[in-house]
Amino acid sequence: RGKRAFIAGIADDNGYGWAIAKSLAAAGAEILVGTWVPALNIFETSLRRGKFDESRVLPDGSLMEIAKVYPLDAVFDSPEDVPEDVKTNKRYAGSAKWTVKEVAESVKQDFGTIDILVHSLANGPEVSKPLSETSRKGYLAAISASSYSFISLLRHFLPIINPGGATISLTYIASERIIPGYGGGMSSAKAALESDTKVLAFEAGRKHKVRVNTISAGPLGSRAAKAIGFIDMMINYSLENAPLQKELYAEEVGNTAAFLASPLASAITGATMYVDNGLNAMGVGV
Ligand code: NAD
Repeated sequence: RGKRAFIAGIADDNGYGWAIAKSLAAAGAEILVGTWVPALNIFETSLRRGKFDESRVLPDGSLMEIAKVYPLDAVFDSPEDVPEDVKTNKRYAGSAKWTVKEVAESVKQDFGTIDILVHSLANGPEVSKPLSETSRKGYLAAISASSYSFISLLRHFLPIINPGGATISLTYIASERIIPGYGGGMSSAKAALESDTKVLAFEAGRKHKVRVNTISAGPLGSRAAKAIGFIDMMINYSLENAPLQKELYAEEVGNTAAFLASPLASAITGATMYVDNGLNAMGVGV
């Protein structure tokens, strides 16, 4: 049987999550998607109306199929955690069972088990504020949506990930080097995510024979990145200064994820893998 992947954090065809889904689909995996509740409607409508058909084309000419789209809000672990104003919010009230625990239960009910779990989501409400001007609330929100969300997904999905399975998240070099403009505690959130990748690799490896890795990706003009506001500058900086002076394609991150999820990477766990045209290796830009 082919492998089954659950990819959290797809709401359009521009981001890393979509590219990862495509690479996994091209390698023969069945694709399940978790989409942020407020974005669900437009994503499903666009899918249904064929708006993504061009970008669904796989190398063999067939179209990527998504077996099921689940509404998900990864900042809530179970229904008890959801505050009243969110529960009654128009965009949330139309969907059901979107906390992490409930999504894992639904996937178990619908499909039994999975082999691959991908976390391709982040959110920092104060990302445009310097770290030193970030509020406690904003900082904790960034950590909740961008770091703990991976722990929560792993925690709830691990029981249904087959032994030999793999999990992947997406990180950014702002965790370890100064990237002015990546504020609001987002740099801290990525540092936590990378450190957690190691500890979780130990725990998931010993207990379930599941691997945990993260991809440190270079800049991509996704929806989330455009919201930060400096993405064009970062893309140009990379073009000028990286060892490989070429555009970074989302597909290259997707292909790395497919490799990391495959038996070819059976001894790789706890790793932060750079997919950034080598920019991380530069000391100064030239
Ligand atoms: P994206 O907009 O395609 O993906 C982010 C997704 O997160 C969106 O679909 C959004 O709806 C979802 N999301 C936000 N809050 C959520 C929540 N509470 N619950 C569920 N889903 C939620 O943008 P992207 O840039 O492809 O981001 C994917 C990952 O890649 C993120 O972890 C990001 O930090 C990382 N990354 C991006 C870049 C870049 O330059 N774009 C570079 C390095 C790492």
